[in-house]
Amino acid sequence: MLKKTVRDLEVGGKRVLVRVDFNVPLDAGRVVDDTRIRAALPTISYLRERGAKVILASHLGRPKDAPDDALRMDPVAAHLAQLIGSPVRKIDELTGPEAENAAAAMEPGDVLLLENSRFDPREKKNSPELSAELARLADLYVNDAFGAAHRAHATTAGVAALLPAAAGLLMENELDALGALLESPARPFVVVLGGAKVSDKIKVIERFLDLADELLIGGAMCFTFFLARGAQVGASKVEDEEGVRLAADLLDKAAASRCELVLPEDVVAADAFSADAAVQVVPGDRVPEGWLGLDIGPKAAEEYAARIRGAGEVFWNGPMGVFEMAPFAKGTEAVARAMAAAPGITVVGGGDSVAAVRALGLIGAMDHVSTGGGASLEFIEGASLPGVDALQDR
Ligand code: ADP
Ligand code: MG
Repeated sequence: MLKKTVRDLEVGGKRVLVRVDFNVPLDAGRVVDDTRIRAALPTISYLRERGAKVILASHLGRPKDAPDDALRMDPVAAHLAQLIGSPVRKIDELTGPEAENAAAAMEPGDVLLLENSRFDPREKKNSPELSAELARLADLYVNDAFGAAHRAHATTAGVAALLPAAAGLLMENELDALGALLESPARPFVVVLGGAKVSDKIKVIERFLDLADELLIGGAMCFTFFLARGAQVGASKVEDEEGVRLAADLLDKAAASRCELVLPEDVVAADAFSADAAVQVVPGDRVPEGWLGLDIGPKAAEEYAARIRGAGEVFWNGPMGVFEMAPFAKGTEAVARAMAAAPGITVVGGGDSVAAVRALGLIGAMDHVSTGGGASLEFIEGASLPGVDALQDR
């Protein structure tokens, strides 16, 4: 880890502004999935145990640059208070006099949660003025919001230039796990990629063609590759001409690389995009006219599972099929179960893939589950993460 971490700071008695990723799903004013809140607890506890005054900031949802009562942080504050067994003071401002007074009144170990950072239109603009207002609240800054580190906003980047700035424990853990995977993966290094679009993940695919030994493709993505090979994809979801050209380039690059790019031998085809459609298993490159490929087939699932079992390290992003519908969830489940049982190092990243692993109760069986979908992919692409760059070097 090249950046300072919270462990490099003297935090006792200090006000520490911690950018967390509390962007959690809410329903009727309650937190319905608290994974992201729990992920920030190690840093919050670390600071409180050392007598720091903990000031938390996060965005929540997508407010339209203005306060939105449905997206206030109050339910998050209530939930956090339950998890830590101590009061959490919540205020209705991000910065300004009320926030400054609240910060000034804190005792060591206190926790203050600021209002949704995206209510302030200056947040996404990384406004120097907002960054200065944030810096006035605290003595130190800690970024623990890996999931937001690919955005250069005032709370994730701007304020870091104005205070001693370090990574939180979650951020450190994510950067260590993904950094190790990119720098020295255990071999054979097997990457499983699925999800909807090739064009979203093109740079990630290129990076893995250099790094991985085997690249197993599933999800809708495989049909754009099949089409680029001139195969029959029926009515499967494929990309436009540009996407198909990108896929053809990637197939050429794969052929010239030492990485083996594997497409599914068979797929589950349906006569409609529906959980009660008629289904048949067909060869991956021969989906009948009018039918849609919605999952990898049983042979492909078995092959991918075997390759995962034989891997030194596995990285998985993107479901193998439309796992939201039970008839098309088997490929995703096979990959998740194979990873859970695999002897190698297993890393999962991506919102939907992580949701699938969670639904199967297999989170604990993975070596690393990334909390940041977009951020983890940008990190793998080799793009720098503004929220990390802004922190101080060791
Ligand atoms: P992640 O969030 O893990 O990065 P993506 O967002 O890239 O994954 O893709 C997930 C979406 O891809 C899911 O909603 C899933 O239904 C869809 N998907 C997967 N396979 C197919 C397919 N064969 N046809 C259509 N959609 C698919
Ligand atoms: Mg997704």
